[in-house]
Amino acid sequence: MPTQNKSQSYDAIIIGGGPSGTCSAAILAEYGHRVLILEREKFPRYHIGESLIPFTFQPLQRIGMIPKMKGSAFVKKYSVTFVQPDGRRSQPFYFFNRYDRETVAQTWQVLRSEFDQIMLDNAREKGAEVREETTVTRTLMEGDRVVGVEAKDKSGQTFEVRAPITLDCTGKEAFTSNRNGWRMSDPYLNKVAVWTYYKDSKRGVGIDEGDTTVAYVPDKGWFWHIPQHNRMTSVGIVAEGKYLSRGGVKDPKTIFHREVEENQWIKDRLSTGESTGEYFITSEYSRHSKYCAAPGLVLVGDALAFLDPVFSSGVMLALKSGQLVGEAVHEGLVAGDLSPARFANYGATIRAGVENMRKLVYAFYDPKFSFREVIARYPDAGGEITDCLSGDVNKDFTQLWNRIREFVPLPDDLPYGAPLESSADGGKASAISAAGKSG
Ligand SMILES: Cc1cc2nc3c(=O)[nH]c(=O)nc-3n(C[C@H](O)[C@H](O)[C@H](O)COP(=O)(O)OP(=O)(O)OC[C@H]3O[C@@H](n4cnc5c(N)ncnc54)[C@H](O)[C@@H]3O)c2cc1C
Repeated sequence: MPTQNKSQSYDAIIIGGGPSGTCSAAILAEYGHRVLILEREKFPRYHIGESLIPFTFQPLQRIGMIPKMKGSAFVKKYSVTFVQPDGRRSQPFYFFNRYDRETVAQTWQVLRSEFDQIMLDNAREKGAEVREETTVTRTLMEGDRVVGVEAKDKSGQTFEVRAPITLDCTGKEAFTSNRNGWRMSDPYLNKVAVWTYYKDSKRGVGIDEGDTTVAYVPDKGWFWHIPQHNRMTSVGIVAEGKYLSRGGVKDPKTIFHREVEENQWIKDRLSTGESTGEYFITSEYSRHSKYCAAPGLVLVGDALAFLDPVFSSGVMLALKSGQLVGEAVHEGLVAGDLSPARFANYGATIRAGVENMRKLVYAFYDPKFSFREVIARYPDAGGEITDCLSGDVNKDFTQLWNRIREFVPLPDDLPYGAPLESSADGGKASAISAAGKSG
């Protein structure tokens, strides 16, 4: 198919219409900037990542989404509960024991097809232009600077668009990170997830209807049980690949049902329900980009970093990074300076949040670790653990990490997330250029 000759220009191009992209877009469009979102799929489209945590509230409030969430059918989530393999259940931990009941303490279990559609429409209402079924195929380069993208629309027509800044919000595709060799794995967090949906399985009542349950399986794996509206429940298992595929079993349906048989609580919950019959599997999803930005480019949400989903932090981090990048790009556009250095604070903030959450994820998977034991020795540690798990991830947790290290080792921070300055980074900037051109 031919490429259209005339390229259009915008203030910002956003690749990907998930939560990170639409959050940035809403902010930039509201400031009056000309924003283009290019999204590969036609919305509403399926996506995993359905349980929100309390500190999604602030970015959702910033972009005017709270009234829409309150008016939605999404199940309200007030708590998280932990269940042992033999069925013993902790008390639900209610967020309103620590946060304001009317705001942060109530969050939602969403159907991502609907949530992402509302987010995309919200960005549109604020003035962002959205082109769905449009896949970005490469970045356009001038020297070492990204100056726009080439994309292909539904009819196969290729076109170019230009902007002083491009936001990579491509989620697990990690479009620019993959193409530039910046994608780093997290060696210990190489889990596999298998999941499906049930209709009319058992759930709590009243404020417990939207409780997220994390049900442990042997060998430090866990089930999630997330009640959604329309009588559906999202249920999945996360564990080491070698544990889930023991005996040479590879079929997700067989893996799922074998594990359900071993977990009394999940088995009982699902006993009244009916499986939708569709099973999903994914592996090795934890990853980090070496850089948060490069000339003309900034990475947002999962495209920057993604952690194991045990504490449901993904959408919170996507929204938070979307908000920070939206504000930083606005300031850069106003100042006429979008150099990578302008994203240094953004990169440092998100990396600090990711590293805090990552420490708790590592601790969770350590067979010798128990939240209960830490809190028994240090009763005031409970509040700090709660803050981190609720998404208040940019506090100083030094004391908490020192206390937890008395029980289990915690990982050092990864040396990632600074912007890539073309001049300061030797030959690496030209590597962007080469990869972008061929990409
Ligand atoms: C098993 C599992 C369970 C999870 N559970 C939770 C949970 O309970 N709670 C939670 O908060 N998070 C959870 N997550 C994480 C959550 O799914 C992500 O963190 C979140 O969706 C990230 O948002 P994003 O906007 O960065 O990317 P995405 O939501 O992935 O959006 C990226 C968008 O970019 C588009 N795109 C990609 N490439 C291109 C291209 N070349 N051109 C145009 N468009 C493109 C895609 O179509 C997509 O719409 C889970 C993840 C996994 C794997």
